[in-house]
Amino acid sequence: MVTINENYLKLKAGYLFPEIARRVNTFAAANPDAPIIKLGIGDVTEPLPAACRTAMIEAVEEMGDRATFRGYGPEQGYEFLRDKIVEHDFQARGCDVTADEIFISDGSKCDCGNILDIFGHDNTIAVTDPVYPVYVDTNVMAGHTGPVQEDGTYEGLVYLPISAENNFTASIPGQKIDLIYLCFPNNPTGATATKEHLQDWVNYAQANGSLILFDAAYEAFITDPAIPHSIYEIPGAKDCAIEFRSFSKNAGFTGTRCALTVVPTSLKVTASDGTSVDLHRLWNRRQSTKFNGVSYIVQRGAEAVYSDEGQAQVRELIQFYLENARIIREQLSKAGIQTYGGVNAPYVWVKTPHGLSSWDFFDKLLQTCNVVGTPGSGFGAAGEGYFRISAFNSRKNVEMAMQRITDKFKAEV
Ligand SMILES: *Cc1c(COP(=O)(O)O)cnc(C)c1O
Repeated sequence: MVTINENYLKLKAGYLFPEIARRVNTFAAANPDAPIIKLGIGDVTEPLPAACRTAMIEAVEEMGDRATFRGYGPEQGYEFLRDKIVEHDFQARGCDVTADEIFISDGSKCDCGNILDIFGHDNTIAVTDPVYPVYVDTNVMAGHTGPVQEDGTYEGLVYLPISAENNFTASIPGQKIDLIYLCFPNNPTGATATKEHLQDWVNYAQANGSLILFDAAYEAFITDPAIPHSIYEIPGAKDCAIEFRSFSKNAGFTGTRCALTVVPTSLKVTASDGTSVDLHRLWNRRQSTKFNGVSYIVQRGAEAVYSDEGQAQVRELIQFYLENARIIREQLSKAGIQTYGGVNAPYVWVKTPHGLSSWDFFDKLLQTCNVVGTPGSGFGAAGEGYFRISAFNSRKNVEMAMQRITDKFKAEV
């Protein structure tokens, strides 16, 4: 008889986005002419930078010539890309990361989940609340939690609440945690972490033998020079942190697929027999067994992000989305609605007005403004009373959506 991984049965049945779709579809069916604008999903809307497209076209041509054709590439990624990443993303910021510590992959989402392959099942695991759901669900699938509870949290995980009261940065836990997921700039709250805050985490990790899983998918949106882009800007982080990065949100690669994970060669964990084990070696073994690399064409496209042209084009993309975020923040403030984030991140985290629940505000925005966002409660219990608005959209849609909201709410608040 076939058995299944019954941990999957513990998952809350993909609640958030299907429920949004259900409510939007019901509303659209009843109001077929309603001009609905979706500011809900965390996907980019603007086309790929020209530098990346040109590089990929050239790479396609190389693949058509016997002399330059490439088959399987190195599992860790081509050196031409890892060298550029190290130079621009790390060494230029004073981070002592080397090319052999970089693993190119087809996405940070996959890496965040796959990384659990190299860890045991007895770790104490902490996530923030609200949180990027991938961190939680992959731990549920791996059997690291008990069943889901009444409030939507899973038994066995440690939830660190983040809200306006703590500036959306979790306080350092009093208990011992083994694996800690941190995401800055944050999805969904748009919050960033100061050097001091990250230093507190690194100090905690060093004192407790913990490992930080640092998701820097939105680092390109940081405009404040005082905010660190990488956990490795923090002294000591190379002994206690893995970092995930992606070309999805900076260069619009959500549909092209390229990301990277940094596993420092200095990361050691003690095995049950007392021997010191190198995490880099385990991850390399995992990747070279279960992964065959990212397409040569796509890696050439990612490399072009680091050309002068590519850098200028990526900056332009980021500025475009950040300008959307500015419009969202300013218009909502004008309407008397409190916002957070959206300065060094493409997400604006909204405090729902009049004490409305996240879903009540969702329904109200949909029905009165025909605007779709994401209920904060969908990212965790502590997201209740908040709402995420994404800056990933056309300028026209953002302006129209905000105009409708100010027209509706100015009168009320
Ligand atoms: C979008 C996003 C990523 C990137 O995922 P990819 O698989 O590389 O597209 C990673 N982490 C967070 C929090 C994200 O929102």
